[in-house]
Amino acid sequence: MFKFLTSLFRKKADSVDSFLMYPEGKRYYRETHSIRRTNIDEDAIKIINRLNKFRYKAYLVGGGVRDLLMGKRPKDFDIVTSATPNQIKRIFNNCRIIGKRFKIVHIIFKGKIIEVSTFRSLPEHRLEKHKADNDYLIKRDNSFGTAKEDAARRDFTINSLFYDPKNDSILDYVGGFDDIQKKIVRVIGDPDISFKEDPVRMLRAVKFSVLLGLDIEKKTKLAIKKNRLEIEKSSSARLLEEYNKMFRTWKTSQIFHGLAENHLFEVLFKESIDRLKKTDPEWKEHFLETPLGKRLAITDQLLSAREEMTPAIFYSLIFYDIVSDIFQSDKGHIAHNIKEALQPVFERMGIPKREQDNLVKIFISQPRFLVTDDEKERQNSFFKKKDYFYDAFMVYKIVALSENNEAAVQSAFFWEISLRQRPKPDSHNFGQQQNRKKEKKRPPRKKMRGGRGPHPGRQQQGGEGQNPEPSPESNERGTNREQESHFEPREPRPNRTEGEDEA
Ligand code: ATP
Ligand code: MG
Repeated sequence: MFKFLTSLFRKKADSVDSFLMYPEGKRYYRETHSIRRTNIDEDAIKIINRLNKFRYKAYLVGGGVRDLLMGKRPKDFDIVTSATPNQIKRIFNNCRIIGKRFKIVHIIFKGKIIEVSTFRSLPEHRLEKHKADNDYLIKRDNSFGTAKEDAARRDFTINSLFYDPKNDSILDYVGGFDDIQKKIVRVIGDPDISFKEDPVRMLRAVKFSVLLGLDIEKKTKLAIKKNRLEIEKSSSARLLEEYNKMFRTWKTSQIFHGLAENHLFEVLFKESIDRLKKTDPEWKEHFLETPLGKRLAITDQLLSAREEMTPAIFYSLIFYDIVSDIFQSDKGHIAHNIKEALQPVFERMGIPKREQDNLVKIFISQPRFLVTDDEKERQNSFFKKKDYFYDAFMVYKIVALSENNEAAVQSAFFWEISLRQRPKPDSHNFGQQQNRKKEKKRPPRKKMRGGRGPHPGRQQQGGEGQNPEPSPESNERGTNREQESHFEPREPRPNRTEGEDEA
């Protein structure tokens, strides 16, 4: 009986080991890597120390370790541990368990939340002989596992490194340390299976390659091309969530260029390039010179110049070519025609109803910006009070700039001046007046409206090493997460376990 059990155990361990470059885990000590404790959130270290004190394994993991090794400042620090959520709860007062299926723990500090997850195992099918080719999509719950299983179930080798503060070492099961030195994004295990399990990983590969200046490893790249249509099986909520993260990077245009070159854009936003495809067969290669590419590049520039951008602005710019003929013509019922043209796109992408209406209003109002008549002051100020005005104006301005349309740029200027003259709070109200004075002293607003998470500038600047100042927002992941987004996913993540993209 004992022999039988150990043979079972050995078989499973061997299977997991086959995914790992270093099944015993390779350690890189202080003298061989650049991570210094001073760059790590003190509270994250304290959490790990406390878990260690109670004899649980605990490491820093994921994007935080990757970014530190690349000399960039991490957005957040995630922790992974051998303790189960209930065990974690017993040793921390300031925490709550979240997630219905796969539970993770939020440890709450003033102004920030640190996420602690339990080691998770590989999806079962990875450890079995594969039967059909099409049942890999992760739908079921993942279960708790060991450190090496947790390393194996992650998306890319660069995201799978553990940092162990006990002895300042990096623990590498998958070869991620070398891939960081070689600047390569590589899937852990078979990329065909990984992308079938979770097609959003293909977008993430492109995103990391663009943002971190890495090459996508050959097999991984080929698998993206091969599995591009799998994207259609992903949950729309997860895709919207991923786009929203991209919009905050200031590098949306470059990421989308990467998506185009890797054959994903034509699947993700197929309607947007219908027209382009016909007139410009080379559009993927020179995406940044296409009308859409130019619009996105200008939006990135404006973001870096501290303009506010919302996801609605980005989506309007992406869908612009689908409907521009309609709202530029005087024929027919424009609102109805715009809705009709966009409905299939909205449905396919799972855009929430509220946002659908908003986007339609943004398009309908585009010709309104051509009316720059001071005589129409009353109508203009009525228009300016619309809640979609800012988004619509930005779309108008970005399109004008991208088309080098002098007349349109001039009329945008008219509205921009007006925009800055928006009605101020009631000057008779003493309290509000005081607030206004206070506000003046504050730096300009730096957050992308409707987005979640820190402002892209702060993430990016810090990340790029241009802004060594620690950002007060850089660790407020949980707090920011609770902010409402314009395009907040409206459905749970059906394709994966909750918290899958968390540590
Ligand atoms: P970012 O800087 O954009 O936050 P990140 O690597 O931290 O990058 P997260 O989405 O925060 O990305 O995910 C944290 C970690 O969880 C990743 O580093 C990776 O190890 C794991 N992960 C995230 N998404 C997936 C996924 N789809 N499949 C497997 N592992 C994932
Ligand atoms: Mg992260």
